[in-house]
Amino acid sequence: MPELPEVETIKRSLNKAIVGQTINDIEVRDYKLFRGKRHDVLGAKIEEIERRAKMLIWKLSNGKYLLFHLKMTGQMLYDSEDHKLIAGGGHPDSVYLKKPPHEFTHIIFTLDKGHLYFNDLRKFGWIKILDENGLKDEVAKLGPEVDWPEFTFKYFVTAMNRKAKTKVKTVLMEQSLIAGIGNIYSDEILFKAKILPTRLVRELSQSELRVIFDNIKPVLELAIKHGGTSLKDYRQLDGSQGDYLHFANVYHRNDQPCKVCKTTIERAVVNGRSAHFCPNCQK
Ligand SMILES: [Zn+2]
Repeated sequence: MPELPEVETIKRSLNKAIVGQTINDIEVRDYKLFRGKRHDVLGAKIEEIERRAKMLIWKLSNGKYLLFHLKMTGQMLYDSEDHKLIAGGGHPDSVYLKKPPHEFTHIIFTLDKGHLYFNDLRKFGWIKILDENGLKDEVAKLGPEVDWPEFTFKYFVTAMNRKAKTKVKTVLMEQSLIAGIGNIYSDEILFKAKILPTRLVRELSQSELRVIFDNIKPVLELAIKHGGTSLKDYRQLDGSQGDYLHFANVYHRNDQPCKVCKTTIERAVVNGRSAHFCPNCQK
């Protein structure tokens, strides 16, 4: 699933590609992925594209919003009138290499200068049409973004302690406490902090919490700089693959040597998700 750096990368590319264009038509081929009345947004102009947690928000000229969540295998692919394809999200399945629309294209936006296709192999992704209050309700349950001023160390400690009996990796991924961190970046943050993902929050000292907190922003910022990961479920909006995984220390590197100490990276299951860690560097 794309996390904060991947969705941020898509946001930046789409802002350059489609802002200012009008939504002339929306073809909904599968209403499971589309919530709202398409007529509410036809003729509206895309004014701005924002990100909140792992979701993309299109702000429209008529006061409405389109909210997108790519979930596991969702992909946004923009085919401009000069046929320059740009894509974000997705999956390695060869169907994603086919020119859309194809069997996994579920929603098609006709814009002034091209088409935007919402493709999804597993159909967990969705698009919602919301007004301002609906959008507020949708994001109300999310914790702060890590670059917001309210995301302070004091907030972080209070938030973590609300889940004191839970493993630290799981709590970092809790969207109601901190927005945007998932499986990849929780592993990377904890490696940098030298903390095992299986530790319970209540076992962490104040100074250990401080080191975790201090590594959150740098890890996410480095990933954004490299366009996110190139894992199977993600492609950058210009079709290229993000190269962050070359910089990843532990994520999906189980059975490979630690880049710091050469100890073999291990994998464990934490609350149903894979955790990757160095048993020597992390305590
Ligand atoms: Zn190590």
